[in-house]
Amino acid sequence: MAITAGRGTCRRRHVRSCQSTKGRCPDIAFGEKIPAVDGNLLRVFARLALYEEEIKTPAASAAAKVFFMDRMPQDRPGDFNQALMDLGAGICTPGSAPRCGDCPLRDCCRAAAVDRAGELPVMPAKKARSIEKRTILVIRDEDKILLRRRPARGLLAGLYEFPNEAGWLSEDQAVRKAREYGCEPLHIRALADARHVFTHKEWHMRGYEIRIGSFPENAGNDMDRKISLEAEAVKGNPEEERHAAMPGNCFITTIRSLQKKYALPSAYAVYFPHTAPL
Ligand code: SF4
Repeated sequence: MAITAGRGTCRRRHVRSCQSTKGRCPDIAFGEKIPAVDGNLLRVFARLALYEEEIKTPAASAAAKVFFMDRMPQDRPGDFNQALMDLGAGICTPGSAPRCGDCPLRDCCRAAAVDRAGELPVMPAKKARSIEKRTILVIRDEDKILLRRRPARGLLAGLYEFPNEAGWLSEDQAVRKAREYGCEPLHIRALADARHVFTHKEWHMRGYEIRIGSFPENAGNDMDRKISLEAEAVKGNPEEERHAAMPGNCFITTIRSLQKKYALPSAYAVYFPHTAPL
């Protein structure tokens, strides 16, 4: 298999990176005969060899290394690797339409011979995102609103949010939940459903705006209640501290403060309009 080496910008850039990360690409930096098996070479290998196993595995990397080692010339290993990288970057590209018509390896490519180049390499199956139903509660009076801070670890760690519950609550359940926060609802209305996609999960949200006459005077002063670790984390912010003892790490803030001080995650964006001053 004859492979010519390119010497364009890509090569210069690669050599520089090899010099700055000594040992990663000894073929080019030091002329050693070692295939530089990266994503590009794995793809080229899978197609040239019609490798039909999953490509992101140690076994696939080992097979690719053996495959290229067998074909690597003694005298110009760096050029060989560079030619394959260039081929992978410009011709044997990811996706379903590599440029086989322009490929100098077309005659020795097993995948192209059976018209299956676009099917390879075999990538790991994508994990389906989990679906999580949540109910978002926008609990407010004329100029104040209930917020809470998320736990310090995990999804949206440490960010502020509207109180929300797992599952889809009915109106009655949402009203009961508001009462658990010490709030007496005057009016409840359903808001738009919304969906937010994270990397590994989706929130499917149902929202309610719950209007109350006013927050209880002593809402934030009940220091006999257990203050959770998360609530402790708000120390330093007097406003939050004052209300840190509310159930569920909630605290009351003004609509004005919400708009100036608390950046809520975009996952809740559809509910932002319901925090406007009345
Ligand atoms: S012939 Fe097509 S699939 Fe085979 S190495 Fe060349 S570009 Fe890739």
